[in-house]
Amino acid sequence: MYWEQEIETMPREKIVEMQLARLKESVKRASVSPFYAQQFKETGFDPNDIGSLEDIEHIPLTTKDDLREHWPYGFLATSRDELVRMHSSSGTTGRATVIFHTAHDIDEWANIATRSMYMTGMRRSDVFQNMMTYGLFTGGLGLHYGAERLGALTIPAGAGNSRRQIQLMRDFGTTFIHIIPSYALHLYTVFEELGMDPRKDTNLKAAFLGAEPHSERTRKRVEELYGIKAFNSYGLSEMNGPGIAFECPYQRGMHLWEDNYIVEIIDPHTGKPVPDGEEGELVLTTLLREGMPILRYRTKDITRIIPGPCECGRGHRRIERITGRTDDMLIIKGVNMYPIQIEKKLMEIPGVGTNYLILLEREGYNDHMTVKAEVEKEFFSGNLKQLETLRRRITEELKSEILITPRVELVEPGSLPTTEGKAVRVIDNRED
Ligand code: ADP
Ligand code: ZN
Repeated sequence: MYWEQEIETMPREKIVEMQLARLKESVKRASVSPFYAQQFKETGFDPNDIGSLEDIEHIPLTTKDDLREHWPYGFLATSRDELVRMHSSSGTTGRATVIFHTAHDIDEWANIATRSMYMTGMRRSDVFQNMMTYGLFTGGLGLHYGAERLGALTIPAGAGNSRRQIQLMRDFGTTFIHIIPSYALHLYTVFEELGMDPRKDTNLKAAFLGAEPHSERTRKRVEELYGIKAFNSYGLSEMNGPGIAFECPYQRGMHLWEDNYIVEIIDPHTGKPVPDGEEGELVLTTLLREGMPILRYRTKDITRIIPGPCECGRGHRRIERITGRTDDMLIIKGVNMYPIQIEKKLMEIPGVGTNYLILLEREGYNDHMTVKAEVEKEFFSGNLKQLETLRRRITEELKSEILITPRVELVEPGSLPTTEGKAVRVIDNRED
């Protein structure tokens, strides 16, 4: 049941004790990097001031811009000779950041990746098909090393080439997949095109869904379409990549491995911690990183800590499914919303297909939002009345969720663009 029983089921006070000892070390390691050396000097923070975990609040927050401004080597805490691997973020919100790892860093990362996958029930006898991009993006190699360590036969399929993915699954009896949720939905339509049903024509048992925000409804869809369990997997390159927080079989939030990271949730406007259970921005501190320790990193991801213990017996606290990034919030006609709210509604409505796009335009002084959604083929044959009824229903449901009335355009399956990587859901043509 557990990959590392002692650490996974460690009582809270033991975890806290371990975190404090590791935090002191991590801060000391960080203090030799050019960035933190200067930051500590400027702010007067002394690494010896950490007496309890609460003292972490005295350390200034680190942002993505800090990483960008000190690109590429400003955060290094070891000599370059110690480094064995470089990764970079996807650059979803601007210039990508780069992260360097020592051999020990890769080893610790593989360990939490293994622990995460084992937790969901993956075993040596499983066949793991990794459909994430291999390369600078962390999705591919991140779980790859963990799966090999677990002992599963690992197929480094990489992203895209749907027909080949399906062929691999069938030829080698794939049981676990690692896949971007939007791609999982798209891949199902390729199964359909081939006249196949993944429930009958594959041996799939489970999927790890990660790399982009997705709603509970999307998870359920993937589970239903494929006849499998889908586990939410959270990660970001600055903190390693996948394996940081993962769902257990109870699927109620993701256990964040607190022997490797300190978790905080802050109010994104004030930077102050919010009470346990309240929503805010996730802030993480690496505890074991050697090459590039990062302290109090503002992930920009919105979540909350789920209070209370988990039935699985693990003492590492859980974070809620990510509801958005502080920087992908849309403001339309003065109303704030996250793209995921639209996704959640669309995926609840029967007849809606697997792909959608949000278009923002400015006409005169007015903002307009168009939601294009693929719907099932049947709606386009014969009587178009049904299509109009569905369009009205979608418009009403979206209006009730986001409080403005979008234009809704329904299109045939396969007509909206797809990507191999993270889905592009919003095209904003408004000028600043
Ligand atoms: P970028 O920040 O450029 O997208 P990364 O490739 O490092 O670069 O992606 C990390 C980000 O992806 C996270 O900060 C988060 O916004 C998103 N993400 C990763 N996994 C999940 C998940 N399971 N649910 C929601 N968002 C996720
Ligand atoms: Zn659990």
